[in-house]
Amino acid sequence: MLGKILLSLTLTSLVSCLAGFLFPDKFWISFSLAFILQVLFFYFFNSIYENNLVEKAQRLKLEELKEQNKQIANLQCPCDEKTRQDIALRFDEDVIYKCGKCGKNLKAIVNVKTIQTTEPIYFDDRPR
Ligand SMILES: [Zn+2]
Repeated sequence: MLGKILLSLTLTSLVSCLAGFLFPDKFWISFSLAFILQVLFFYFFNSIYENNLVEKAQRLKLEELKEQNKQIANLQCPCDEKTRQDIALRFDEDVIYKCGKCGKNLKAIVNVKTIQTTEPIYFDDRPR
């Protein structure tokens, strides 16, 4: 951290020196101006960059939540309490969860069925 700060200060000073050498009769004024401009530039650059990163992370989080919501089902425990819980279902592995009321382990089995859809006659002239 300290090394990074020292490196930044050294680089900024070097660039400021270059600006100072461009106007040798006003070296320190050019040096100071270049130094301040660089600090301001990187301050704004970093805040914009950081804002973009935060926004991107939030968007990804939102997307993740949306994806999770697609697979959540409200399931009922087979115990007498008939407790209902929101459980995230998965197709690739068994989902085992604990009932909030009776504390028993439950397995949620995803059962996929295919059925042929019927098409009502009055939909026949709809645009495809
Ligand atoms: Zn239960």
